[in-house]
Amino acid sequence: MERQLFEAEHQEYRESVRRFVAKHVVPHRERWERQGAVDRDLFLAAGELGLLGVAAPEEYGGGGIEDFRYNAILAEELAAADVLTAGLGLSLQADIALPYLLHNCTPEQAKRWLPGVVTGETILALAMTEPGAGSDVAGIATTAIRTGDEYVITGSKTFITNGLNADLVVVAVKTDPAAGRRGISLLVVEADRPGFSRGAKLVKVGQHAADTAELFFDGVRVPAGNLLGAENRGFYVMMSHLVQERLAVTVQAAAQARRAYELTLAYATERRAFGQPVGSFQHNRFVLAEMKTETEIAQAYVDRMILAFVAGELTATEAAQGKWWTTELCQRIVDRGVQLHGGYGYMAEYPIARAWIDSRIQTIYAGTTEVMKDIIGRSLGL
Ligand SMILES: Cc1cc2nc3c(=O)[nH]c(=O)nc-3n(C[C@H](O)[C@H](O)[C@H](O)COP(=O)(O)OP(=O)(O)OC[C@H]3O[C@@H](n4cnc5c(N)ncnc54)[C@H](O)[C@@H]3O)c2cc1C
Repeated sequence: MERQLFEAEHQEYRESVRRFVAKHVVPHRERWERQGAVDRDLFLAAGELGLLGVAAPEEYGGGGIEDFRYNAILAEELAAADVLTAGLGLSLQADIALPYLLHNCTPEQAKRWLPGVVTGETILALAMTEPGAGSDVAGIATTAIRTGDEYVITGSKTFITNGLNADLVVVAVKTDPAAGRRGISLLVVEADRPGFSRGAKLVKVGQHAADTAELFFDGVRVPAGNLLGAENRGFYVMMSHLVQERLAVTVQAAAQARRAYELTLAYATERRAFGQPVGSFQHNRFVLAEMKTETEIAQAYVDRMILAFVAGELTATEAAQGKWWTTELCQRIVDRGVQLHGGYGYMAEYPIARAWIDSRIQTIYAGTTEVMKDIIGRSLGL
């Protein structure tokens, strides 16, 4: 079915994104995977083309257009080039962390931080998760105690995307440790502050280009002017931004699932066994029929989600529905794709094998499938 959500200006943008991916991403992916991080130049190139700050106001160098369809196009084009789930950190910057700044900065903070984020000179990270608290964000133990005009931060974070490259980290802290979720605030920490350090890059099973790392805060002093939003309202700010984060992962999962189907169809059409294409055995034809059907039906919901979000109407429950459904679907589709590739599906040089490893995390980060179902279940009054 023809998709209804894109206009002429989106198609133009898609063409330029496609060229960007071919030039600035695809040729470097393997090297980035070997070095365990992307080059900072990736962010500069993305910034130069305007990919990082579409939603940022023009006065800070952005495009001034809050339209998630542009974000979706970047994800879709990365998927089409088999680099979406490699762990580039662009989505974390543009889809996930930037909105925290856009919607919560004072004019003074916006002036300080946004221009660098938009050009890609400043790389962002968002640090909520701790060794002892992931799904249970309210259980974080990192504290920020106010002393005069400063906060003193003590604690650690783990699994932080862009952790090694980041220049600015939005950190969830307890400013009132006795008040549970009502005592959480967000502080922006510049990476050159004394007492801030990073652990070694975490060794993951996939997404090897992502510099996922631990971050340590040993009495890090930041001015009170680095508080993002109101003190002790950080939990609610995070919850409101999780809608966009989950939409971003939903869009990625749908795009990756579709790509896996396309790769598998192409392979199963070409590869022959017992004198015929492997896809033409009835069982495999049925598998491919299911893959096509499921990816297209998922896309219809995802496209509705995007339009609802653009209209300011996407609810937390709807975002949770899309997130768990599409990421679980992506697992199934990619796994069936590996199976239909036979032994080649297990070879790292094949995009389907890379997708299998790299996309596995999708049902876990940005809120696990179980947490998504919990959100949906509670909305039923249960
Ligand atoms: C590659 C990668 C990148 C990441 N990037 C970032 C980042 O940039 N910033 C950041 O802050 N975090 C990041 N994370 C962390 C990620 O968001 C967490 O791993 C995730 O939220 C799950 O938390 P956890 O690992 O502590 O698991 P836990 O919360 O310990 O969960 C363990 C299991 O228990 C289940 N569970 C937990 N609570 C419930 C419940 N109420 N009901 C039913 N089941 C439940 C979970 O679903 C899961 O299956 C990243 C993680 C990875 C692996």
